[in-house]
Amino acid sequence: MKKTEIDKLITDYPLVKNLINLEEVTWFNPLSTTLEQGLPYVGLTQEDVAEAEARLQRFAPYFCQAFPETQKTQGIIESEIVAIPEMQKTLQQRYNCEITGRLLLKKDSHLPISGSIKARGGIYEVLTHAEKLANQAGLLSETDDYAKLFSEPFREFFGRYRIAVGSTGNLGMSIGIMSAKLGFSVSVHMSADAREWKKKKLREHGVNVVEYEQDYGVAVEQGRKQAESDPDCFFIDDENSQTLFLGYSVAGNRLKQQFAEQNILVDEDHPLFVYLPCGVGGGPGGVAFGLKLAFGDNVHCIFAEPTHSPCMLLGVYTQLHDNISVQDLGIDNITAADGLAVGRASGFVGRAMEHLLDGFYTLSDSEMYDLLGLLALDEGIQLEPSALAGMPGAARVTSSPDYLSKHGFSPEKMKNAIHLVWATGGGMVPAAEMSKYLATAKI
Ligand SMILES: *Cc1c(COP(=O)(O)O)cnc(C)c1O
Repeated sequence: MKKTEIDKLITDYPLVKNLINLEEVTWFNPLSTTLEQGLPYVGLTQEDVAEAEARLQRFAPYFCQAFPETQKTQGIIESEIVAIPEMQKTLQQRYNCEITGRLLLKKDSHLPISGSIKARGGIYEVLTHAEKLANQAGLLSETDDYAKLFSEPFREFFGRYRIAVGSTGNLGMSIGIMSAKLGFSVSVHMSADAREWKKKKLREHGVNVVEYEQDYGVAVEQGRKQAESDPDCFFIDDENSQTLFLGYSVAGNRLKQQFAEQNILVDEDHPLFVYLPCGVGGGPGGVAFGLKLAFGDNVHCIFAEPTHSPCMLLGVYTQLHDNISVQDLGIDNITAADGLAVGRASGFVGRAMEHLLDGFYTLSDSEMYDLLGLLALDEGIQLEPSALAGMPGAARVTSSPDYLSKHGFSPEKMKNAIHLVWATGGGMVPAAEMSKYLATAKI
């Protein structure tokens, strides 16, 4: 962008200046509406989510066989919720504010198979594709026991097809491992941010890892190109896929059930705030969609991004969505939060979800590292840097009087609040790598 264009943008949208200065910002969304008003913009419905739930249920017997670690949840890939009361105290001190209600952590960081939130969307899209191919070939019907997919004949069948994806690491892990297990020939196009151990692990699974010195946008573009020239190659489009989005959305009803089991009440007087780390937007967008359908107007979703990669905040705030990248403003998109190192937001998610999101904020890399160290110290839970992005969310909310009064969140109501930090990755980080993360925290 030319300097004059940037200046014009700053005049119309003053917060852009703060983004360019890499300041930590918090922006509550004036476009947010009720679920009823916002839902039509999504273009997907409860029925679509129910279909995704049913598909994952059909595959459950397959998972029990192919990934025995999923047997304890009957072949369903789901994570637990834990309270983090010591961290809650630490956050109040650190941010000098009162966080009333309960602080909980959703441990998608410890999901089986790939140890990140991508075990929801990425795996779901591979399953959808596999089911379609097998159906079309007359090898599988929905009433079959899908355990039969875990067999040599099916692996040979899927071996005739290829899957490609571009990723900063975790999506590649989920899609790579899942695809290879089914028998597909799979290529993962990895951006420069991707960690070495993730590439190594994928190669051990027989995945073709293609490395780039550029960022996520380039890796995705190259993956797309490879697939275009090959009719048997299916490209999983993280920037636009509704299937990925639906895979994530299943989290909504699952969470509702977990809350019911733990007697955690969510209603008008017991608001639920959810803080979701955002990269391209599919993960947090899909989860937020599912949460909205499950909890209606009593859930409030807030996205968190690195100061160096605030693509979704930028896109929604300026209404330019995927027509602008952080690099257009001279922001470098270089962050330790590799899962969030995305310069241009999904064109689909921002437009679909902008009416159903309460807010956005950014935080620095050093903040993520410090929070990583503090969480490990206080609660003994170790995450990767991206997964800490949601941690300051409760403090941002409780320190924003205008937002609280706009939504009628009185001090009384906030005493009943549930603050849920979505931990998106880190469960499979090798010990040596984790030591480096912990050593970077200044606490
Ligand atoms: C991918 C990822 C996210 C964000 O998901 P997007 O779909 O890219 O927005 C958050 N945290 C981690 C650890 C991730 O890998």
